[in-house]
Amino acid sequence: MRRNRKVKIVATLGPASSTYEVIRGLYEAGADVFRLNMSHGAHDEIRERYDIIRKVEADLGRPIGVLADLQGPKLRVGVFANGAEELAEGAGFRLDLDETDGDATRVCLPHPEIFQSLEVGARLLVNDGKIRLKVTACGPDFADCTVVAGGTISNRKGVNVPDVILPLAALSAKDRSDLEFVCALGVDWLALSFVQRPEDVAEARALSTHFAPKGQAPAILSKIEKPSAVDRFDDILAVSDGIMVARGDLGVEMPVHAVPPIQKSLVRSCRHAAKPVIVATQMLESMIESPMPTRAEVSDVATAIYEGADAIMLSAESAAGHYPIEAVQTMNNVAAEVECDPLHADIMAASRGGKKSSIADGIVTAAREISETTDIKAICCYTESGATALLVARERPSVPIIAMTGDQRTARRLALSWGCHCVATQTMERFKMAVVNAARAALADNFATRDDQIVVTAGVPFNTPGSTNILRVAPCDESLIYSTEPG
Ligand code: PGA
Ligand code: MN
Repeated sequence: MRRNRKVKIVATLGPASSTYEVIRGLYEAGADVFRLNMSHGAHDEIRERYDIIRKVEADLGRPIGVLADLQGPKLRVGVFANGAEELAEGAGFRLDLDETDGDATRVCLPHPEIFQSLEVGARLLVNDGKIRLKVTACGPDFADCTVVAGGTISNRKGVNVPDVILPLAALSAKDRSDLEFVCALGVDWLALSFVQRPEDVAEARALSTHFAPKGQAPAILSKIEKPSAVDRFDDILAVSDGIMVARGDLGVEMPVHAVPPIQKSLVRSCRHAAKPVIVATQMLESMIESPMPTRAEVSDVATAIYEGADAIMLSAESAAGHYPIEAVQTMNNVAAEVECDPLHADIMAASRGGKKSSIADGIVTAAREISETTDIKAICCYTESGATALLVARERPSVPIIAMTGDQRTARRLALSWGCHCVATQTMERFKMAVVNAARAALADNFATRDDQIVVTAGVPFNTPGSTNILRVAPCDESLIYSTEPG
């Protein structure tokens, strides 16, 4: 099975998508990676969903990526005696460490670290920013606030504190236990919420290396959803394997109109660094309730694709909505349409960049140029670690990328990367065999016919990461491969 598009689709699983039928349906409709959101769902449920994904993968014979998303240091208020209270604009409201039930004048915010770093004038945003509080006085165990924008506050609503770098550990006790659990499960990607600094990523990496079976730690994806993460983006990108533009919380912590330019800039930086980037949240929000998206949502999905994002993501649309499959189909249709537009290819070409210094950089650039000058049906790259495939993806070539790898984990991880059709293959011993094998893969998945040609890149000696040093333009017809093979 092959996709007729380059951008990838990430679908979050949840109560609306936890059976074999729905998960397989989501894959068949176009989902390439499944997100397991650790903020919701017990470990047993998560394990069940994980096992189903692997069953679908085995039944369909295609590598599927699994991304576990840790909740991170998300702040929440405690509970109210009445379950909820109305906060009126101009009223006073206190947050404190008193664990008794809240009322119309106060509620517990059970995070002592926060009070230590708050200052008069700081903003506290409750329930996705719908309620805005301003600190008028604070001490080590309380903050008195004025209600700037009122509304209903209810049990355990989330709190965002955009103005201060919180002295919070990157991973809560729950995150640590979730991390250990998903590493043992064998997920391909680990997403970190509310990353504030590069050290947060280093900490998660050390823990996942410790907990995962040797050599099988998940790749790490940093979610950019704090102003401090935007400020230190280059340093965070340098230590991450991928990025999510987490527009939900980012749009709460910053003015919503600041988000689109940040999205554009992060997508561009990730591409230049040859690391996958996901654009996430509210892409097809109305499809939670409706089988049809709004024009604005379709346009938002299209924009992310024109920007060259590796992947676009569904959250509640696929996890808890009424139309999970239709939401994936919508993304798939928009992608197919946008990627047929000649302007899309123009934009991909005009936005190339990033540092090139290795032999592999030279080879993949040449592969892309050959595919543009002659009638080539696919670029097949042998890639053990996935690094060469990421470099080909950075070129955003107009032909498909077939990533051939002897490592199933690499194939699964690359499910997130732009244009990569991954094929888990035996490890190759001779280049001639590698060419035959690549041609077979291109034929088997209908990328080419016997009359077509492909470009094959590989590294000799085989199975040495970072060794890409050969480029061959090869016919897909096996008998021709043998008769034209130089050695
Ligand atoms: P979440 O992250 O869905 O885990 O909150 C994405 C976002 O904030 O956009
Ligand atoms: Mn978030």
